[in-house]
Amino acid sequence: MNEHAIRDVVIVGGGTAGWMAAAAFSRFLNNGHTRITLVESEEIGTIGVGEATIPPLVSFNQMLGINENDFLRETAGTFKLGIEFVDWGKLGDRYFHPFGSHGHDLQGVHFHQLYLRERQRQALPPIADWSMSAVAAAAGKFGRPSPEAQSPIRELLYAFHFDAGLYARFLRRYAEGNGVTRIEGKVQDVTLRPADGHVAAVTLADGRQVAGDLFIDCSGFRGLLIEEALETGYEPWGQWLPCDRAVAVPSALTGEPDPFTRATAHAAGWQWRIPLQHRMGNGLVYASAFLDDDAAERALLGRLEGAALAEPRRLSFTTGRRRECWSRNVVALGLSSGFIEPLESTSIHFIQSGIARLIALFPDKRFNPVERTEYNRQMRELYEDVRDFVILHYKATERSDSPFWDRCRTMAVPESLQRKMDLFRAKGRVFRDSMELFATTSWVAVAFGQHLWPDSHEPAVDALDEDRVAAAMAQMHQGYAQVAQQLPSHGAFLRQTALSPLAA
Ligand code: FAD
Repeated sequence: MNEHAIRDVVIVGGGTAGWMAAAAFSRFLNNGHTRITLVESEEIGTIGVGEATIPPLVSFNQMLGINENDFLRETAGTFKLGIEFVDWGKLGDRYFHPFGSHGHDLQGVHFHQLYLRERQRQALPPIADWSMSAVAAAAGKFGRPSPEAQSPIRELLYAFHFDAGLYARFLRRYAEGNGVTRIEGKVQDVTLRPADGHVAAVTLADGRQVAGDLFIDCSGFRGLLIEEALETGYEPWGQWLPCDRAVAVPSALTGEPDPFTRATAHAAGWQWRIPLQHRMGNGLVYASAFLDDDAAERALLGRLEGAALAEPRRLSFTTGRRRECWSRNVVALGLSSGFIEPLESTSIHFIQSGIARLIALFPDKRFNPVERTEYNRQMRELYEDVRDFVILHYKATERSDSPFWDRCRTMAVPESLQRKMDLFRAKGRVFRDSMELFATTSWVAVAFGQHLWPDSHEPAVDALDEDRVAAAMAQMHQGYAQVAQQLPSHGAFLRQTALSPLAA
């Protein structure tokens, strides 16, 4: 064994971030000499929200060797095929941001470019009609994609909705089964090594000390190690993303769970609706400068479809990112590393991505700064790309019915987003920067859905025969509709494969 190898990894915090990290490390650092310890405090508890995800989580489960049906059963999970956005471009609007792609490219030309030209010739349905995931979602259907299939079902891409508390419990069982040690206790003090300022140990309220070589800060918004002990600093993004509060409440299901999240814009924010097997998750995300907490709670409760099942919970947050997600021997994962409101369900993905990048750049006790710098660069890019994509939802609007929307519509956006919007407006072009999470389909869905129509299309489209393109588009359209018709309903699929005892 390398004499410099990390022997003790200490994870502080047992929310989604802590247990995802513990589960992944127990699988991938399972080398006989790395001990993994997780400290959490039941008294402090977890944030308890975080119910919608994006497709990469499917591969996180696969990498851990988790059976998907077991996972859905244990977490009261449902399938998610994308997000339906209501009232964003203007009041009365409705569009779908699907997982997967829109249609097929022809001779190297992107499908949305074909769509742009064709809509000048004839009235077309929304571009979502050319997405397998969106068409299935609109019909309330679901089926697992099969990569070998010839039919468009192989294009269906999905993620999950689940109960965050049950997910943490599920991962805890997995991690403890793989040898992770859990310590119940409240961290009260952090000891730094005088020589280099690295964290040497954390001290619990009962006086126990937990020492380590590498510390993972999963302590939530407060950033117990990364901020309170190391004072790493935070870059706030409230000038572009003004929402800073949320109120959340579960409600009774009023029918079969839909296979999609709904995000409905309000006068000063937006409301999520996330169907699980046994209940609906709801929440209103809003800007406190435009709406007070009591009014927000009334607005949320007034729009519930089923009866509220608990008292509403109020949360506040500062959108932004930790200046360095990895500082000295501390890596922040989850809310301690930053937060972007859950409009595109990206926080759990930040955790997954942080874990994967940390495993890829795993240090030894010498802590080569090159690895740390690279990790911080990659995480900064991930955060900024997602930030820009989320800002697009607020900026690309025609809404002028409230001071909140007036502010969003007229605000200056980061240069990186302005450049992308300008390119898109000219000829509908989208370029994916290095490891960018949201690419062509996502951009096209939101931009078309919110009336950011390009002035023209790419010249390459004009090399393709118009009638042949129209015929190919019609054929694709029909293919998606036919496949969706044959799929079982989402509820029936869950009953056949993954129904949890909670919902039975
Ligand atoms: P927490 O859940 O806050 O866990 C912190 C842990 O640290 C707890 O175990 C706590 O006990 C422990 N701790 C803290 N201090 C101490 C101490 N002194 N001693 C010992 N232990 C301590 N993400 C998504 O991907 N999809 C969504 O739909 C989504 N919706 C969201 C909606 C809202 C309104 C908010 C605010 C967030 C949402 N998120 C969503 C984000 C998601 O909730 C988090 O990313 C996820 O839950 C991870 O949280 P965490 O583990 O970092 O922190």
